[in-house]
Amino acid sequence: MIENYRPTKAVIDLTAIKSNLTYFQEKVGDADVIAVVKADAYGHGVLEIVKTVIENGVRMLAVATPDEALFLRNHGIDTELLVLGATPSQFIPIAQQHNIIVTAISLDWLSMAAMHVEKNLDALKIHLKVDTGMRRIGVQVNEIDEAFGFIADHDFDFKGIFTHFATADEKDSPLFSQQVNAMNTILDKLDDSSVMVHISNSAAAIMHPDLVCDAVRIGISLYGIAPSPYVGEEMDFELQPALSLETEMIQVKKLKAGEALSYGATYRAEQDEWIATIPIGYADGMLRGLQGQDVLVKGKRVPIVGRICMDQCMVRLSERSLIGEKVQLIGRQGQQRILIDEWAVKLETIPYEIPCILTKRVPRVYV
Ligand code: PLP
Repeated sequence: MIENYRPTKAVIDLTAIKSNLTYFQEKVGDADVIAVVKADAYGHGVLEIVKTVIENGVRMLAVATPDEALFLRNHGIDTELLVLGATPSQFIPIAQQHNIIVTAISLDWLSMAAMHVEKNLDALKIHLKVDTGMRRIGVQVNEIDEAFGFIADHDFDFKGIFTHFATADEKDSPLFSQQVNAMNTILDKLDDSSVMVHISNSAAAIMHPDLVCDAVRIGISLYGIAPSPYVGEEMDFELQPALSLETEMIQVKKLKAGEALSYGATYRAEQDEWIATIPIGYADGMLRGLQGQDVLVKGKRVPIVGRICMDQCMVRLSERSLIGEKVQLIGRQGQQRILIDEWAVKLETIPYEIPCILTKRVPRVYV
């Protein structure tokens, strides 16, 4: 049965995911790769991504929220699972029941969790997050002795300790070095070698292989996207972008010189022009700020013209095309390629944001 009658789709290349994963697995040797699959696997569709990474040797997944963890458990995923963000008291027994590892984000959180653990269930598995400089969540560096003491005095199953870098994707960042030093001081105090230590995100894993510890948490680059232009230029491997975005022309017409198109009639044809309408708009994540962005038709770049509407937008063709002609918005066509990074520049944001803003209305199709 056909489920999507509109030709707009995000095509997710699972062999690209596998290739990116293999790069990190080889890079970290005996250490583990924790696949970060929060936010619906950065918009790529969590269940298919999880299936692929598990088949290819990943032993631990990380999500941001309790709900994301439960979603995976409810879909039969029984791999080790870490919630990176905050977990409320009501979720503590649920985490115990479903074997979900939760993050101890502060001393207050530890006290709260100690009060809500269900004694009859397996002990609550925790990873301790240390705030070494990101200043988002985590136990403060000067609280670490108290945190270790509290954990030792209570029935937690202390499985891991981690921190998160604020500037791993930048060149020669003093804050990065400070965070590494702070974490090393803390690790010197840890006398339990069974506790898993993980500090690196994609950028740190790529740029600082010496910091691998027991595992690395790989998000953005698993999906074939460089964490920053600097890291992209420096790295010794060509990441394989997994997501491409495509559609087909639904109408082609000639606009006479001087005629306007779309809302506000802000775009006016300078000469007679072939215009194609494509069925994708801001309700799909094709934000209005992408007006002027190129798309690919027959392997050539052509621009989006006029205001982007909720469900549709228009492109100016270099020659007449037929209805049904394929339009590549992100990805490769012939010799040309449009990367997510190009959208990010156009939208004055970071590549991380792009796959996350493609809405549920855009079906993810796996190849
Ligand atoms: N670890 C934590 C705590 C995160 O918040 C994130 C992503 O934001 C990651 C790891 C993965 O980072 P990246 O996508 O840069 O690899």
